[in-house]
Amino acid sequence: MKNIVQEKWEDILEFIKTEYGISKVSFITWISKLYVKKVEDNVVYITSDDSNINSNFTHIRTKYGMFIQTAIQEITDTEYEIKFDNENETSSASHQEVSQKVSHNQGLPLNPDYTFDNFVVSKNNQLAHATALKAAEAPGDIYNPLYIYGDSGLGKTHLMQSIGHFILENDPDKKVMYVTSDTFTNELIDSIRTGNMSPAAFREKYRNTDVLLIDDIQFIIGKDRTQEEFFYTFNALYEAKKQIVITSDKPPKDFTTLDERWKSRFGWGIIVDLTSPDYETKVAILQKKIDLKQNEGTNIDIDDEVISYMAENINSNIRTLEGALTKVIALAKIQRMPITKDLAQYALRDIVGTQMKTITPGFIIDVVAEHFHITASDILSKKKDKSIAVPRQIAMYLTSEYTDFITSRIGEAFERDHSTVIHNVDKINNLRQTDPRLDETIKVLINKINPDM
Ligand code: ADP
Ligand code: MG
Repeated sequence: MKNIVQEKWEDILEFIKTEYGISKVSFITWISKLYVKKVEDNVVYITSDDSNINSNFTHIRTKYGMFIQTAIQEITDTEYEIKFDNENETSSASHQEVSQKVSHNQGLPLNPDYTFDNFVVSKNNQLAHATALKAAEAPGDIYNPLYIYGDSGLGKTHLMQSIGHFILENDPDKKVMYVTSDTFTNELIDSIRTGNMSPAAFREKYRNTDVLLIDDIQFIIGKDRTQEEFFYTFNALYEAKKQIVITSDKPPKDFTTLDERWKSRFGWGIIVDLTSPDYETKVAILQKKIDLKQNEGTNIDIDDEVISYMAENINSNIRTLEGALTKVIALAKIQRMPITKDLAQYALRDIVGTQMKTITPGFIIDVVAEHFHITASDILSKKKDKSIAVPRQIAMYLTSEYTDFITSRIGEAFERDHSTVIHNVDKINNLRQTDPRLDETIKVLINKINPDM
């Protein structure tokens, strides 16, 4: 007898395809050919007959596991764990495949949509874009490493992969390797533990590339062994004048556990940041995404009014903006209705409702605390250590700049008297003029608070 997951598998696939904005090529390549082998004790065993898929289950799990699992839950109303058929298997067959991959595989596949052509350039990313393009035009030469940082969903991965595409288009013989921090970490762990790839082969694989794109480095920093291995790779590539591109959620100097030596090494090339898009940029990006979908064959008739509604109301980041577009299009399709503003409002009621955020002292305290890896109660406490006192002063300063609160109310919010507030705000104001590092940190924080939204 078929289990409900097997019975509804087509619906589950359809759901994954329409709900999560997974690119067409990724869906076709990785997901459409999966099927359920069996279901036992609330575990869904997924497999495929395609060898290209079978050798990439780890990748598929990392990228799409959550989607698959959530979709199963949505469609069947039951929570299942998912397991891919031969994950963790060390049969001699998969052994061979792995060692074969070592010499040919150039990391994870690049997303074909993440090209310079599809990247909308605007105030918030102009410098990063130009820098990335230059690095792509002269890999290893001018900006090495290129370090791109910014909050989630602002285009770091897109920009980084654009470099990869560009280099490959100009010189298909170049070896470009794109890898996320967790893949790097997992491969290293694998090489040590399972012996699928020897540590030497691991090193060889990463050294043997002309361009290394390493995404979200923050997940490596602080993990001793992985970090060390990454530094080894970095040095080898740097010395061989191979291009290294790094993305991160913060600038090197904000990594509290990172050696000064490495902070400066990451800055040897150039450090650029991406910030939140303004209204015009959001409109342009939405239009770009609609064009892309149209080129892929989806017929979309979407009003300017709907586009400006989304650009005005979705403010967190471009990923959310894109998700919103996908949602609106999906709803119109299901309901067989034209895409009107009413429909968009209805489709986006959850997203738009929750993010109408007003900036409050509490919000600023949370953002600052998170940024400095301390807690909100540390900020409100009487603790005097520098690691807490400085974030506290910064939080007060930001509250005075970005809320309408008068000093005495800011004092109440921080459980201090108003003269302390005035003193601290002045202090930070002055320091910003003289201490460029502090100024930079504050800019990052302002960005996180995102006052223009
Ligand atoms: P990050 O890596 O910074 O979290 P991504 O690069 O994954 O963000 O971007 C999230 C989504 O937003 C992607 O689908 C990407 O194509 C899109 N995006 C981001 N910036 C731009 C841009 N300037 N033009 C077009 N699309 C963009
Ligand atoms: Mg990313």
